[in-house]
Amino acid sequence: MEIKKENRKWLDDMNLSHPIVIAGPCSAETEEQVLKTAHELKNTDTNVFRAGIWKPRTRPGGFEGVGEIGLPWLQKVKEETGMLITTEVGNANHVELALKHDVDILWIGARTTVNPFVVQEIADALKGVDKPVLVKNPVNPDLALWLGAVERFKTAGITQLGVIHRGFSTYNSLHYRNKPKWHIAIQLKKEFPDLPLILDPSHICGRRDTLLDVSQTGLDLNYDGFMIETHIDPDNAWSDAKQQVTPAQLNQITKDLKIREVSS
Ligand code: PEP
Ligand code: MN
Repeated sequence: MEIKKENRKWLDDMNLSHPIVIAGPCSAETEEQVLKTAHELKNTDTNVFRAGIWKPRTRPGGFEGVGEIGLPWLQKVKEETGMLITTEVGNANHVELALKHDVDILWIGARTTVNPFVVQEIADALKGVDKPVLVKNPVNPDLALWLGAVERFKTAGITQLGVIHRGFSTYNSLHYRNKPKWHIAIQLKKEFPDLPLILDPSHICGRRDTLLDVSQTGLDLNYDGFMIETHIDPDNAWSDAKQQVTPAQLNQITKDLKIREVSS
């Protein structure tokens, strides 16, 4: 399936400069945590604020998100900071609620991309709406599932599409939480050359100290932007505490990234 050049136009229409920086906490926890993080991010390169409202946890017993009550907090972020807002949707009901609360960009999580029935349900719920959708790679290293999810949104008439590379789970991984397996994302890029490709180094690394290196690799490979989990108090975050950074640390990472001069 062909993704045409004009499918990148939504980035310009939304004033999303290159590289796009999506930052914010893994989970929205409290209104205060969300707003404090957002106000600190306002003074960085961040142009889209992220926060998980519904958290799909691999095993039960963890924090599963605040749910609908968190959506007005995101709306406040938009009103008070001017940043666009994005959250993960995992079913048609999430889509309906996110749209009701003016969420600008929806993302599909790695545990959803693996399920064609759910992807189709979400795509159907978006018919006639055409909201920007970012599709994370599936948890397992299966390019066809990733491509298939993109195709389902495309077929449903979603023209504002992008993909997020968050790495792939393996039984044993010492260095990475989710191995990048860069070739899979590069292959996806070959099939959909004009689809914005965003790197999520947070879920690849699973730790703070390697975020810059992995982000630099993404930049060198011509990725269009980053999604980096950012929290005012990372060590005490309710989910993914080890990999989140403070807004100041995020700022340092984006400042340290080196755009390579390509000689002509
Ligand atoms: C997240 O972004 O917090 C998340 C749950 O990510 P993933 O779907 O990549 O695991
Ligand atoms: Mn997370």
